[in-house]
Amino acid sequence: MESLSPLEQALHAARALVLADLVAGDVADADVVSMVEESVSQRRWWVEQWPDGVHYVAGLIAQDVQDSLLDRHGRWPLCPVCGSGDPHALDVEPELGPDPHWVCHKAGVKVAAVGALGRATGGTASS
Ligand SMILES: [Zn+2]
Repeated sequence: MESLSPLEQALHAARALVLADLVAGDVADADVVSMVEESVSQRRWWVEQWPDGVHYVAGLIAQDVQDSLLDRHGRWPLCPVCGSGDPHALDVEPELGPDPHWVCHKAGVKVAAVGALGRATGGTASS
């Protein structure tokens, strides 16, 4: 048995986080899942060129998928914090850094860690 390299582990974790957020937003159809796979394979290449970027892949894949969704499906993820006004998407912060979060720039709040959007939107919360 070969164990996964740190790169594969990071990509695997990033993929799981982004998929969890897509499921929370109810947009994880086959098309969207293949966008995630596409981003994961691009980022695999990218980290091979720049190994220090391994800690940034979750935030980057989230942003890749967000961009692809904007073209094909529309804004994602919609802000769950602002109850009124125009619907708007959350942004990933930091754009290039570890421990990425979804933030609403309008309200100026951190909404959830990437991968934890389900809890923030109340989808599966049971508090
Ligand atoms: Zn907002």
